[in-house]
Amino acid sequence: MPFSSLGLSAALRQTLADLKFERPFPIQEQAIPAVLMGKDIFGIAPTGSGKTASYVLPLLTKLGKEPQERNRNIRALIVVPTRELAMQVQQVIYSFSNRLPERVTSMAVYGGVSINPQMKALMGTSILVATPGRLLELIDNNAVHLGKCDTLVLDEADKLLNLGFHDEMQRIIGLLPKKRQNLLFSATLTDDVSAITQLILTNPLVIKIVQEEETVDLIEQTAYRVSEEHKGPLLRHLIKSRDMQQVLVFTSSVFKADTVTAKLQKNGINAVAIHSKKSQEARRKALDNFKAGRTRVLVATDLISRGIDIHVLPFVINYELPRSPKEYVHRIGRTGRADATGEAFAFVTPEDEHHFKIIQKKMGKQVPYTETEGMTFSG
Ligand code: AMP
Repeated sequence: MPFSSLGLSAALRQTLADLKFERPFPIQEQAIPAVLMGKDIFGIAPTGSGKTASYVLPLLTKLGKEPQERNRNIRALIVVPTRELAMQVQQVIYSFSNRLPERVTSMAVYGGVSINPQMKALMGTSILVATPGRLLELIDNNAVHLGKCDTLVLDEADKLLNLGFHDEMQRIIGLLPKKRQNLLFSATLTDDVSAITQLILTNPLVIKIVQEEETVDLIEQTAYRVSEEHKGPLLRHLIKSRDMQQVLVFTSSVFKADTVTAKLQKNGINAVAIHSKKSQEARRKALDNFKAGRTRVLVATDLISRGIDIHVLPFVINYELPRSPKEYVHRIGRTGRADATGEAFAFVTPEDEHHFKIIQKKMGKQVPYTETEGMTFSG
């Protein structure tokens, strides 16, 4: 799903294109339309999942339509546990909003620095990013009012509660209007987090983004000990004998991706290569065709292991192993997404065996070997 179908303003879509945000991350795909519709959200998502933009973008779209007022009534409050996160979230908001024709004002406030400049600067702020203690100090000094703030975001709610902000949070929530939208994000689901979700969320959309490391457990892995020259026949044998209708094959070089693809085609198997030497248009087409089931085998270099998000991809084959164990997890993570189980196969030559041991150790999982010696390959 492209950004254009999520309901964001045209100006924001242009900004996203300028910032090279090509496609929404899964959490954004789900959260943005729901936030625009006014729903409460409970996102269980780690840092790196794109959660900040998932609430900042719809907030900017909503507030961009409203007149900016020069008073101390903020319209949206983002509560975060640390000064670092406050600065980071403010930077994200600014990076989007400073290019908009209808600028939405935002500011971050946190402790450890003088309060006076913050008090002055708060005038006319629409979105406030704050740590709890400093927010309450500012409220007690009449520098900010929450009475018109109809959106509350709790980012890293688990940390907020871990760091003992419980009482402060209760006070802040008590000062907000009862009728408001609540967006709560947490990396983990603890008892404390559950308790607070029940306290503040009304019929929320729950979005769970599984961490890549966790998906490894959903994937059934097999390694084949195989010589370089038997890799081609083994690949064809697997595709045919397992009746694989949609399989992603990884190679380490552009040259290899092309030769493996050509060999498959020569053997009557519908295959396409995707790598950095292909034009953007050719890559898009290759991916679309693969996703739509029109291409049976997509042969890829690491170029796309991060970007591909195909919801039910049953098979991934590592024709060649990647250098880094992390990349290996990224590659096989293309299957076993969103709680669907998948299968991953690794072709391991005698030279690769030591490296594959390291990959397994880093991944924290042992992969059983299947011997190919003496195996006859059909197909
Ligand atoms: P977050 O989880 O919000 O800290 O975001 C993680 C990183 O992903 C940040 O560096 C963002 O700039 C980047 N990011 C978020 N959404 C997208 C997207 N749709 N396309 C590309 N990069 C993104």
